Amino acid sequence: MSLQQEVEALKKDKNAVILAHNYQRPEVQDIADFVGDSYGLSVKAKETSADIIVFCGVDFMAETAAILNPDKKVLMPSMEALCPMAMLLGVDELRSIQNSNPAADTVLYVNTHARAKAYADCICTSSNAVEVVSAMDSDSVIFGPDINLAHYVGKRVSKKIISAPKHGFCPTHHLIEPQDVEDARKKHPNAVLAVHPECQPGVQDMADYIGSTAGIIDYTQKSDACEFIIGTENGIIHRLKKLSVDKKFYPACDMTVCPTMKTVTLEKVRDSLWDEKDAVEVPGGVAEKARAAIERMIDIVGKS
Ligand code: SF4
Repeated sequence: MSLQQEVEALKKDKNAVILAHNYQRPEVQDIADFVGDSYGLSVKAKETSADIIVFCGVDFMAETAAILNPDKKVLMPSMEALCPMAMLLGVDELRSIQNSNPAADTVLYVNTHARAKAYADCICTSSNAVEVVSAMDSDSVIFGPDINLAHYVGKRVSKKIISAPKHGFCPTHHLIEPQDVEDARKKHPNAVLAVHPECQPGVQDMADYIGSTAGIIDYTQKSDACEFIIGTENGIIHRLKKLSVDKKFYPACDMTVCPTMKTVTLEKVRDSLWDEKDAVEVPGGVAEKARAAIERMIDIVGKS
């Protein structure tokens, strides 16, 4: 029996569903029931009737699935899949910024830990950050942990954005420099540039399209262009090629690989389904408050 067949058999036997982020390894994406961005995965996690969710992504994503599904078992195949950006916003720092800005609402990127989410008024993903921040009542909004996404949002809303922390960013997306884009454009002069808003402002300013991974996929599918330079984690290239076989995709930078995302392997998915250990647990009080902030996001997006 192949590894893929073992995973399929265990999944069926245990009534499990496998959710995978667009940055996962190709073979993990191929075995998943649903591949998507953080928002799409949150919605799928909420809708599933499976007893077990195997979450192939990083810690904050699995936590979000566990928060939305308190009666289900959420398994993380790799306990090393920890997002370094999510670690940058601690509760003490967030509380201190909130105390200094009592009139501001707090919108946190989904790339945060549950204990920080519990102090947010609303959560957002990169696909809905502008919509969510615009929907807040206050004129100023505390936003974190990504300064690059904060820059993207700040240019599109008429509210003051207060970054929390001051210099949080994704170390993977931050690697892409404007010079990389210039070099890629020289090599592929007919290619269109699509980037994620976690990229540096200088890279965002050069882009033909800026959006979440789901947004980038949609954009490339609908575009008349045949070649694309992609500025996000390079795992997405597998999905883009699968969905648009007649188009060409080039990474803006070869080094844009998230090491923690890649700690999830097919073997670990099999083992996790087999022994069901490493279930994600979020303490009741924290989960309840974080759930309210996540559900507010789903509500805002659902109404639009
Ligand atoms: S790509 Fe960046 S934000 Fe996403 S999991 Fe990796 S480090 Fe975190």
